[in-house]
Amino acid sequence: MTIYSHSRLSTFEQCPLKFKFRYIDKIIPEIEKTIEIHLGKTVHDTLEWLYTQVQDNKFPTMDETIVYYAEKWAENYKPEIIIVKKDMTAKDYFDKGVEFIINYYTKHQPFDDNTIEIEKKILFNLDEKGKYKLQGFIDRLVHNTKTNEYEVHDYKTANFLPKQEKFENDRQLALYSIGIKEIFGEDKEVILIWHYLAHNQKICSKRTNQQLQQLKQETLALINQIEATEKFPPYISKLCDWCEYKNICPAWGNSPEKEIEKNNEEGLDIW
Ligand code: SF4
Repeated sequence: MTIYSHSRLSTFEQCPLKFKFRYIDKIIPEIEKTIEIHLGKTVHDTLEWLYTQVQDNKFPTMDETIVYYAEKWAENYKPEIIIVKKDMTAKDYFDKGVEFIINYYTKHQPFDDNTIEIEKKILFNLDEKGKYKLQGFIDRLVHNTKTNEYEVHDYKTANFLPKQEKFENDRQLALYSIGIKEIFGEDKEVILIWHYLAHNQKICSKRTNQQLQQLKQETLALINQIEATEKFPPYISKLCDWCEYKNICPAWGNSPEKEIEKNNEEGLDIW
């Protein structure tokens, strides 16, 4: 049995060599995470905390929420964190996060949309025999009691807001909706909701059961392609500047040999 995640699949699509470094050679990156990852994680942690408090019948004020965000930022911040955009400082990213929290808080208070789970784990079989499973975590799951629909909420901290077409074809939340239907029933409607915090916008989409069946088949076909792959070429793109393996990537004139040897001894356990 092999467990795949959306991130594992999309890493292969983005760059087969990066996939090999991360999931086959299991190389622990030497470089620190990027500031975008730090910002995204801190904002996610803050919203998770906020809704957990609300579930416990506590209602943090906006100020308390910002204080939590600032504490989390400081707790996990390291000067080695990479800032690719040279015209931006760590303080600029910190301020962006404060703005995201203020806008989100203002728009969604009192947070009474009937959140039933936070960071919900999803795990389901992609094929009948259960040879391949898909695992993921939903930022927040809501049961809308008025419509009897389930809502899969996902927070995005990226600047770029894709076109609606991208959401109609998005794989990650559609896969999660398969897991939700397995728990609550195939006949239930599942709404996919992305919160683009930099734009203070909420984008919605949904899938039919037929589309979800097709998605399972497409995902299995991609897994078959990954498992049949013997050569993992680099794919150079603008995303390389944010790649944690650039310093060992041969496409950038570097060598991975030493890292592979070292990690064969230490190992990196990720799915
Ligand atoms: S630096 Fe670019 S080409 Fe090299 S592994 Fe990373 S994503 Fe692939």
